[in-house]
Amino acid sequence: MRIHELDTILSNQIAAGEVIERPASVIKELVENSLDANATQINVDVLKGGLGMIRVTDNGDGIHQDDLPLALTRHATSKIQKYEDLVNVGSLGFRGEALASIASVSRMKLSSAIENADSGFMISNGVDGSVSVKPAAHPKGTTTEVADLFYQTPARRKFMRAERTEFHHIETVMQRLALSEYDVGFSLSHNQKEVFRFSPAHQETQKEKRLAHVFGNDFLSHALNLNYETQDLKLTGWIAEPTFSRGQADMQFFYVNGRFVRDKLLSHAVREAYRDVLFHGRHPVFVLYLTIDPATVDVNVHPTKHEVRFRESQIIYSFIRRGIKEVLSTVRAGVSCAEMVEAPLILDSAPAMPVNHELPKSSPVVQQQTMPMRMTQSETVVAEQINAAPHQPLGYAVAQLHQTYIVAQNEKGMVLVDMHAAHERILYEKLKQQATLQAISKQQLLVPMTMMLTASELEIFDEGKEIFASLGFDIDLIGEHEVAVREIPALLKNKNLLQLIKDTLADLIVEGNSTRIESMKDHILATVACHASLRSPHQLTIPEMNAILRDMERTENSGCCNHGRPTWRQFTFTELDKCFLRGQ
Ligand code: ADP
Ligand code: MG
Repeated sequence: MRIHELDTILSNQIAAGEVIERPASVIKELVENSLDANATQINVDVLKGGLGMIRVTDNGDGIHQDDLPLALTRHATSKIQKYEDLVNVGSLGFRGEALASIASVSRMKLSSAIENADSGFMISNGVDGSVSVKPAAHPKGTTTEVADLFYQTPARRKFMRAERTEFHHIETVMQRLALSEYDVGFSLSHNQKEVFRFSPAHQETQKEKRLAHVFGNDFLSHALNLNYETQDLKLTGWIAEPTFSRGQADMQFFYVNGRFVRDKLLSHAVREAYRDVLFHGRHPVFVLYLTIDPATVDVNVHPTKHEVRFRESQIIYSFIRRGIKEVLSTVRAGVSCAEMVEAPLILDSAPAMPVNHELPKSSPVVQQQTMPMRMTQSETVVAEQINAAPHQPLGYAVAQLHQTYIVAQNEKGMVLVDMHAAHERILYEKLKQQATLQAISKQQLLVPMTMMLTASELEIFDEGKEIFASLGFDIDLIGEHEVAVREIPALLKNKNLLQLIKDTLADLIVEGNSTRIESMKDHILATVACHASLRSPHQLTIPEMNAILRDMERTENSGCCNHGRPTWRQFTFTELDKCFLRGQ
């Protein structure tokens, strides 16, 4: 076969192959168009998981009647004109191919009216690719109806799953869109049944209603509000406390300048921020909004624009990681997220108590008997302590259960603390602080270790050198392809350092950043903390238990242990009363 140009329909169908994967993709494109047209209300109705019919109605700017045929033409857009517009693009769409693609794989009808028009107009496509425009009643805005999706492309249709599955994808897409623009009202119905209706959320409570719908009713009481800003970057949103995690990474919403993205760099930064506090194999829950100068991010890397590329990826990465880490470190035992939002200063304003602040040593403590005796004594002491300083968040210890759990009582009721988990976190945070305080103590090697680097490793080595130096390594180039390691962080002695250095360089090549050495150090400190902390059975005295409670209140991240297990639980009077049917 000789070379020939593809006809329009076929080339549009090829483009559709990338952009229109399933009914949910149609909805993403249509609703993005409505958002770009400044709509304040967008209603979506679908039949049979979108395979029957999809209708998107908006009250946006509408399309001029003369432009209607162009709207369905590939590479025709009202959103950019020259290269500079592409670099600074602020709209969700700009490639001018969504409507043409959709029209090439379905029967499409588009009705639209602009402000103060005498009449609206409708355009529809014929099987042969021809289009016709005729007058049609329509208020200001646009309605796009897509029927018989993939009817001319049976191969794609075969890939479609059950109606229910396709609708699930649609719902997910709609949730992402609804959380991208709170000022816009959204509704979604499936087979004539309303699935949700959000009015424009100008107030906080209306925003919260949206969040609750997507993340569940209990999300907000477990979420931390985030507002982190530097001169050029801004990160806002909500992140869930580590114990409110999921088995799947299915509740993670990241927006860059209002666009939902699934980006490796961004999700890695979030994962790193949670590394120390998340239970093994669990995934954090978050909805985050990054605002950044559009000229520093390239959104034109993928037809569906789910991926982006940052000019300063390293800066963005550490900015996000730092922002989230900072907020997470405020999760302390004794204060729920909801309370932190209401009274963020409660920790600092808590009065100091005359208790023994020394940590119990992990070496065997002298076994204390006479439990019953001490119980009564301690009870009166507790009552006095609570009267004197009612706001000590974790209250005061009254007893120890099975030499494992600390039972304390506070204003709200009863507090149970897992002795080992709590102590482990306290030690770990102390160790980390010491490690940063004493700078990184280095150790000179008597005989330097040498290793050969590959060409690509050498290329990145200069960049990596600074990172290595800041973490306590002294590494130098000694030959064309050879480096010598002369000094190492004392903490990492006896580790397979050459491997670690190679792995770090590989991270730098592939991902542009690496936290491998820091993770390794943290991991060592965490192991030390785990082995040094109190293990049950271990009898504690009341003052020792109180010391642990006070330490927990002061320690960053103390809501959960190094492995992400919770350290404490509150049992309120209401919960306790319910157990015993009190007052019912
Ligand atoms: P893009 O969004 O990349 O420009 P599309 O194929 O999605 O390309 O849409 C083509 C053009 O049709 C848009 O540039 C816009 O001018 C117009 N358009 C599409 N949908 C709407 C809508 N709901 N309201 C107003 N104009 C629209
Ligand atoms: Mg578009």
